[in-house]
Amino acid sequence: MTENMLKFVDHEQETPVKRVASKRTGDFHEIYADYITAKAEMQAARCSQCGVPFCQVHCPLHNNIPDWLKLTAEGRLQEAYDLSSATNSMPEICGRICPQDRLCEGNCVIEQSGHGAVTIGAVERYITDTAWEKGWVKEIKPLQERSQSVGIIGAGPAGMAAAEALRLQGYQVHIYDRYDRAGGLLIYGIPGFKLEKSIVERRSKRLVDSGIVFHQDFEVGRDASLAQIRAKHDAVLVATGVYKARDIRCPGVGASGLHQAMTYLTASNRKGMGDMVEAFESGELNAQDKHVVVIGGGGTAMDCVRTAVRQGAKSVKCLYRRDRANMPGSMREVTNAEEEGVEFIWQTAPKAFQTGKQDQITGVKAIRMRLGAPDASGRQSPVEITGSEFTEKADLVLTALGFLPEDLLTLFDAPELPVTDWGTIQTDFKTGATALEGVYAAGDIVRGASLVVWAIKDGLDAADAIHKFI
Ligand SMILES: Cc1cc2nc3c(=O)[nH]c(=O)nc-3n(C[C@H](O)[C@H](O)[C@H](O)COP(=O)(O)OP(=O)(O)OC[C@H]3O[C@@H](n4cnc5c(N)ncnc54)[C@H](O)[C@@H]3O)c2cc1C
Ligand code: SF4
Repeated sequence: MTENMLKFVDHEQETPVKRVASKRTGDFHEIYADYITAKAEMQAARCSQCGVPFCQVHCPLHNNIPDWLKLTAEGRLQEAYDLSSATNSMPEICGRICPQDRLCEGNCVIEQSGHGAVTIGAVERYITDTAWEKGWVKEIKPLQERSQSVGIIGAGPAGMAAAEALRLQGYQVHIYDRYDRAGGLLIYGIPGFKLEKSIVERRSKRLVDSGIVFHQDFEVGRDASLAQIRAKHDAVLVATGVYKARDIRCPGVGASGLHQAMTYLTASNRKGMGDMVEAFESGELNAQDKHVVVIGGGGTAMDCVRTAVRQGAKSVKCLYRRDRANMPGSMREVTNAEEEGVEFIWQTAPKAFQTGKQDQITGVKAIRMRLGAPDASGRQSPVEITGSEFTEKADLVLTALGFLPEDLLTLFDAPELPVTDWGTIQTDFKTGATALEGVYAAGDIVRGASLVVWAIKDGLDAADAIHKFI
C-alpha cells in the first residue's frame, strides 16, 4: 500500500511492539519486534518533509532521513535501502541502539509540535532488516583492485566502517583485533536484548566475504608494535576504543564480589554465545539468586542491571548520585529497566563496601545526596546530606563509572604517537589524521567513550582521508 506523506495528524505515533517485561526477562533476545510492512509505511508517512530537516542535521551521519521515509511510505523499499546505506554502513544497528531521543527523533519537528516524533530508528531498522532478508545486501565488489594496503587496529564499529569504505575503493584491508570475534563492544559490551549477536555477525561475515582479512586474537603491543604494523601497510587506522574502567575509591575496594561492568558484561555475552566462561560457571560473575547493586547512571549501568535481572537476581538496585532528570543514560532504557523490576535509588553515592567471611561483599554503605549549586558548566553538583548514611544489602556489586583510554604509548611501544591530556589520540578533527604520517585514528579512542553512530562517522571520515592520502 502506498501512503501519502504528512499523516502525523491522522496516524498516531506507534513504536514497534515491545515484549512484556515478564516474558522478555526470561531470555536475552531483543525486546522490540520488527515493524510489519503496513505499519512501517504508515509510520514513515507521518514525516512532515520539512524544508530544513532537523532530524538529518542532528543525525551524526546526516542520513537523508526524509527521503528514505518517503520512499518507504511509497513502498519503494529497495530504493530506500540504497539511500539509507549510502551514508550509514550499519543502519539496522543504529536503528536498534542509537539514543534517538537525543539525536534524530529528539529533533523531529512533529515531536516539537506535540504529535510524537516519526519513529525514525524503527523505520531505519525495518528497511535494512528487509534488505538482508531479500538479499539486497551484497558483498563489496570494488570497481578496481589496488595494490596498496591499509592496516586497521580494532574491529569495532569505527574499524569496520572504515574497512568497508576502503575495500569499496579497492584497497587490501587487514583488521587486527585482540578479541577472538569481530565487532568490539557490539559483541562484548552491548547485551543481546538491545542488539542480537547474529545482527553483528552477518555484518562481519559480509566483510570477510568481501575480501577483508581479519586477524583476530592479535593484540598490537603484544603481537606487533605500531611501527611493525606501519611497516606492513601504506596507511594505518587506530580504532581501539576505550577499555580502562574508571576507578572507585572507598574502603572495601578489592573485596570478593565487586566487579567492573565490562568484566561482568563480557562474561555474560560470552556465555550467551556458547563460550565456556569459568568465572560465570563458578558463580562469581553470575547474578543468579544474588542481591545485586550497580553503581552508575549511564548506558553501561543500564545494561548491567538488565542483565542481572535476566540472570535471575533476587533484587537489582541502581545507585546514582544525581536525580532521574540528570542521569546520563537514555530515558528509554531507564523505563525498560524499571518495567523489568530494577529499583533506582537516586541521589545516592557509595561510601564503603562491607564484607563478611573470606572478604565476600555483603553490602554497600551509601549516603544520600542533594543537588547543590551549579558548577562552571551550569550543571548542579551533588552534595552529601550529613547523617543520611544507610546500608544496601549486596552479594554482587558492579561499578559502571565510565571508561578511559589505555596507555597506548606504552602498549604500542610508540612514544611518538600524539595523545591528549586524557590519553585519547590527538587527531585532526575532520580527517582523523595524527601527526604521524599515514597514521589515522577514529572512534572512542579519539572521542572518549561515545556512541556507535559517532564511531561509524569517524571511521568513514578517516577512510576518506586515507584514500586521499594514498
Ligand atoms: C556496555 C556498553 C553499552 C553500550 N551501549 C551503546 C548503545 O546502546 N548505543 C550506542 O550508540 N553506543 C553504546 N555504547 C558505546 C559504543 O559501544 C562505543 O561508542 C563504540 O563501540 C565505539 O566503537 P569503536 O570502534 O571506537 O571501539 P570498540 O567498539 O571498543 O572496538 C575497539 C576494538 O579494538 C580492539 N582493540 C583494542 N585494543 C587493541 C589492541 N591493542 N590490539 C588489537 N585490537 C585492539 C578491541 O578488541 C575492540 O574490538 C555502549 C558501550 C558499552 C561499554
Ligand atoms: S543513525 Fe542514529 S541518529 Fe542517525 S537516523 Fe539512524 S537512528 Fe537516527
